[in-house]
Amino acid sequence: MAATRSKKTTSKTGSKAKPAEKAAGPDKKKATARKAAGGGAARKKAAPKDAQPKRPLKPTERIAPYQPKKGEEYMSDAQREHFRQLLLAWKRELMEEVDRTVHHMQDEASNFPDPNDRASQESEFSIELRTRDRERKLLRKIESTLKAVETSDYGYCESCGAEIGIRRLEARPTATLCIDCKTLDEIRERQKGK
Ligand SMILES: [Zn+2]
Repeated sequence: MAATRSKKTTSKTGSKAKPAEKAAGPDKKKATARKAAGGGAARKKAAPKDAQPKRPLKPTERIAPYQPKKGEEYMSDAQREHFRQLLLAWKRELMEEVDRTVHHMQDEASNFPDPNDRASQESEFSIELRTRDRERKLLRKIESTLKAVETSDYGYCESCGAEIGIRRLEARPTATLCIDCKTLDEIRERQKGK
């Protein structure tokens, strides 16, 4: 957790590095950038304003879906590396979320001297604790999936051995069952519940 905290501070101070960069000699860079942009610069400036998302992209959203080459074997080294990066980015994201939850609870803890406020605050805490519990479970799952990536077990159904498939893994990088086995599993779960 200390690691994510220190990361936060570096990202905050990150903007301070800019003036130094400018002083280092940006003239050449600017000139080439202008040249490269050419006539498209004006068009580019106008269009993407609405398209740009309001919040910064999450690390996992910045990783584009894998495009396999023609005839590329399933779970090639490049594919496994892609999913490893995706899982690592997801892990970082989750750890930052856990960090935020902890900070939020610490900040709020001393803020409500009124007992009524404290009661509503406690129910809010129990929700946050449940969220953290879920996050922790997910983190464990990501960890075990990362281990599977290392041992080349990744991408194959635990139950029948079939290929889980890149598209399914892209949507659920921690999937350990193919869609057929997963569907069967869910039907069985539902029947147990009745
Ligand atoms: Zn299966």
